Amino acid sequence: MRKVMLTGDRPTGKLHVGHYVGSLRRRVELQNTGDFDDIFIMIADAQALTDNADNPEKVRQNIIEVALDYLACGLDPKKSTLFIQSQIPQLCELSFYYMNLVTVSRLQRNPTVKAEIQMRNFEASIPVGFFTYPISQAADITAFKATTVPVGEDQMPMLEQTREIVHKFNSVYGETLVDPKILLPENQACMRLPGIDGKAKMSKSLNNCIYLSEEPEEIKKKVFSMFTDPTHIRIEDPGKLEGNTVFTYLDAFCRPEYFPEFLPEYKDLDELKEHYQRGGLGDMKVKRFLNNVLQAELEPIRNRRKEFQKDIPAVYEMLREGSEKAEAVAAETLKDVKAAMKINYFDDEELIKGQSKKFSD
Ligand code: ATP
Ligand code: MG
Repeated sequence: MRKVMLTGDRPTGKLHVGHYVGSLRRRVELQNTGDFDDIFIMIADAQALTDNADNPEKVRQNIIEVALDYLACGLDPKKSTLFIQSQIPQLCELSFYYMNLVTVSRLQRNPTVKAEIQMRNFEASIPVGFFTYPISQAADITAFKATTVPVGEDQMPMLEQTREIVHKFNSVYGETLVDPKILLPENQACMRLPGIDGKAKMSKSLNNCIYLSEEPEEIKKKVFSMFTDPTHIRIEDPGKLEGNTVFTYLDAFCRPEYFPEFLPEYKDLDELKEHYQRGGLGDMKVKRFLNNVLQAELEPIRNRRKEFQKDIPAVYEMLREGSEKAEAVAAETLKDVKAAMKINYFDDEELIKGQSKKFSD
């Protein structure tokens, strides 16, 4: 079977380090293995509009920001198709048909939608488009016959919903759609990276992010303002790792080579954690280390972004070409879907012949 990867991001802001460890870093690694027959990376503007209908300018402005972040992280248009969701009309058509296969109560049970409705204070005024976005996500995934979807943990219920739609469709209309598999980050810290406030997940909508394009001074300021262990007051006090954002970030970003480079008195992260828990290691020292780690991780990304920023028309042109390619693939799937659903009247000679016979008898 062909191996196809699909994933994407909402253009509601620049991408942050949560996106990076949750999905982006993995995509680039997978892209560079050469194991995939096709890779589709989608800027989900139509989905962003489901909760930003009154702010289209925000979505419009952030398309290029997300595209630049992609290129800066190493997504390569020669290896991956980067495209814009709204430019693929077949996705709307697929969503419309999938809507018949999902109940209102099933959507209401979706934990991610529930949490997001609460976060956005929608209460009784939930836009229908927002409520049904898990269905449109199923259209995105199935349109490209994706087998692998690398995403953060918050997307698990979406993938489950997609798989249910695939199973239902195939059982009602015959084997047509491909069953996708979710690919979660290997490391617990990367599944749902907390914001610098340590509270919820890092999210563009919550203003608790370190952005991939952030300048060094800003990164430093954010690291030093980070939440640690509130009971770790004096250096000698034993410190806790649970809920300690600085250590969560080290779990997500630290590589073995950073110890000899920035903190040679420790062998590895386990040794650093032991010392912190035992007492005698101050937060400032750990934060200084994390700052060095993040600066080392983000500097090449920021520099590459600046290179791509020099030719913005070329970035739009790349997205246009990607969208054209994506549309052709989605059109093929839609054709299969319509045939399976028996709404391909004009392509079906047997139907026309049969009906002629019926009326001539
Ligand atoms: P919004 O607030 O507009 O929903 P977001 O920051 O949640 O934005 P999305 O575009 O919804 O970002 O998510 C894109 C991808 O990044 C998804 O695969 C999601 O699982 C992953 N992701 C987002 N935030 C995190 C995070 N804090 N930790 C790990 N993965 C994340
Ligand atoms: Mg989100």
